[in-house]
Amino acid sequence: MDMFNRFFRPALTVCLVTAGLFLSAAAIAAPVIDVSSVRLGQHDNRTRFVMEMSAAPEFDIFLLADPYRIVIDLPELNWVAGESDNRKKGIVENYRWGLFKKDTSRVVLDVGGPVKILRTVVLPPSSGKPYRFFIDIQETDFGTFRKELAERRKEQAATQKIALVAPPPPAESRKYTIVVDAGHGGIDPGAIGKSGVYEKKITLEVAQKIRDLLARNDKYNVIMTRDDDTFLSLRERVAVGRHAAADLFISIHADSISRPDFRGATVYTLSENASDDEAAELAKSENKSDLIAGVDLSSQDDTVQGILIDLAQRETMNFSVKFAEMITPEIAKSGMKTRGRSHRFAGFRVLKAPDVPSVLVELGYLSNREDEKILKSAKGQQRLAQAIVTAVDKYFKTVDP
Ligand SMILES: [Zn+2]
Repeated sequence: MDMFNRFFRPALTVCLVTAGLFLSAAAIAAPVIDVSSVRLGQHDNRTRFVMEMSAAPEFDIFLLADPYRIVIDLPELNWVAGESDNRKKGIVENYRWGLFKKDTSRVVLDVGGPVKILRTVVLPPSSGKPYRFFIDIQETDFGTFRKELAERRKEQAATQKIALVAPPPPAESRKYTIVVDAGHGGIDPGAIGKSGVYEKKITLEVAQKIRDLLARNDKYNVIMTRDDDTFLSLRERVAVGRHAAADLFISIHADSISRPDFRGATVYTLSENASDDEAAELAKSENKSDLIAGVDLSSQDDTVQGILIDLAQRETMNFSVKFAEMITPEIAKSGMKTRGRSHRFAGFRVLKAPDVPSVLVELGYLSNREDEKILKSAKGQQRLAQAIVTAVDKYFKTVDP
């Protein structure tokens, strides 16, 4: 088990000692570690994952099931290494990396079945090579894998924080709190456009424009779930809305589909039963965000939560629907097409705050040339942002005249 939690902390210890000598600890930036090369190797029945780095990193490794993954958390890294074409070898089927949260970079390896980590090694520089971090992976039986997983969970339970849910703020001067949620981010790029643009980039740019427009009205208090290229789990996004006792939660996305002729915006609200197959499929793919980023969902009891949500949620849902129906005509006026049925519903996990009216806006299809052009241009983004803000203004006039 020690293999799963070995920490190298020489750099950290030095920082803590030195920090006291300065007025501000923030003045000392932790040295950024460069990753110059990433590769896979196969030796007999072992698959080796190697990263060449400029320093020895602190790290944490754990396993996840459904689907099987290995997750490695490291300090924030500077990826000098280019994209490798060879991301499949032995038991490893694919891997990705990116920022997971501030100060933490994450590597997620998708593996073909239950695995065990035979060893984790950091080699000091030698014969012209920099530091080498590697793990050796081997296929194992389901029982051994489950045992490792259970032990990890026990450790986690001992340290886990409970999700924050704050009471609503006192209602002296009534301000509306609006959470703007830029979909995806960091290690999770979201959909990829015709030209190679990432959904996570578009969603952030539009979310920032919505924020700036809303901020002009002093009735609004605007909160962004993320304001940079960081990953946030779906649960964390929901928690931001609940913690702020938000009056509205707007999640911004831009889908991609195998049909390049499909285009237009669609607004979604939460429902147990999807309005159609396409909506169900989309919710499934948006809900995958946590899987892509290697978030451990095993300790989250969705059944109990589901029942509580149902009871509290009916009224909230009505408000969500009201808001959704106000957005689509505004988007239609902005120059972006809207789909035939432009308001649909499905089981999006990010819309599950029981007490916050929430909508998910798919601004358009990155797989369609015209839509992508609008979504990438500053002008198109501004018009879409303005459309959503006009809908917000109308919504609050209706629910709270
Ligand atoms: Zn998305």
